[in-house]
Amino acid sequence: MPELPEVETTRTGLAPYCHQGIISHLQVRQPRLRWPVPENLEAQVQGGHLAPLLRRAKYLLLPVTARGYLIWHLGMSGKFRVLTPETTDQAWRKHEHIELGLTSGVRIRYEDPRRFGALLWHPDLQAGQAQAPWPQHPLLTALGPEPLSTNWHAEDFYHQCRKSRKAIKVLLMEPKCVVGVGNIYATEALFAAKIHPQCPANRLSFSECALLVTHVKKILTQAIAQGGTSLKDFASVQGDLGYFAQSLQVYGRTGQACYLCETPIQSVQLAQRTSAFCPQCQPLSAKEA
Ligand SMILES: [Zn+2]
Repeated sequence: MPELPEVETTRTGLAPYCHQGIISHLQVRQPRLRWPVPENLEAQVQGGHLAPLLRRAKYLLLPVTARGYLIWHLGMSGKFRVLTPETTDQAWRKHEHIELGLTSGVRIRYEDPRRFGALLWHPDLQAGQAQAPWPQHPLLTALGPEPLSTNWHAEDFYHQCRKSRKAIKVLLMEPKCVVGVGNIYATEALFAAKIHPQCPANRLSFSECALLVTHVKKILTQAIAQGGTSLKDFASVQGDLGYFAQSLQVYGRTGQACYLCETPIQSVQLAQRTSAFCPQCQPLSAKEA
């Protein structure tokens, strides 16, 4: 499943093709995604000027100047393919559902075998302005801070943790707390901070919260720099696979020896997600149980 680093990598990969783009067409071959693609979407965007692409949580936002936002979510298996007039393989692939065409000749195809992704439209006359506020779409308004922004910091996170008896990993993955920290990155950050995933959030000290915030930011930044994590359904627009998977310390390593202490990695189910941890490096002390 594409997580925040993959979506950010996708944004930076698409950006040069969309730069100052004017939309020539929007072809929808399969509107039945997670939510139906709006019926009159092409009429809304045709002839519109694209402003620089944005990302909010795992939503890719394509501002169409003074009209609104195309809101794209990759779901479980969505990805893009960029075709230019020089591309030799122009044929539609089986699971390519949507094509956004630009007057430059660039065409952006959206492929999504499992169709859990979405393409929505949010009208907004301020779209594309440099200082425009985030679009007030219902999917976006309830979201917590961006993990890599200065709006997410140890003080706030500590106060949120104080109010919650949930397992820290569950809280860390809640979009209301902070967006875009998926299972891989929550698992890895907890290992780096030496915090057990089941530790109740309100038992964490301020310094533990600060350490966790630091590691979440560091791990996401590394993953973006390395082009995402390269799980099976993800490829960035140029088709490069990310290399972050090679640096995973505990995620997907249940039963294998911890790289630091050689204790076998264990896992627990938390909120229906497998949470790998090292029982030696991330002890759950008696006071926390
Ligand atoms: Zn260990």
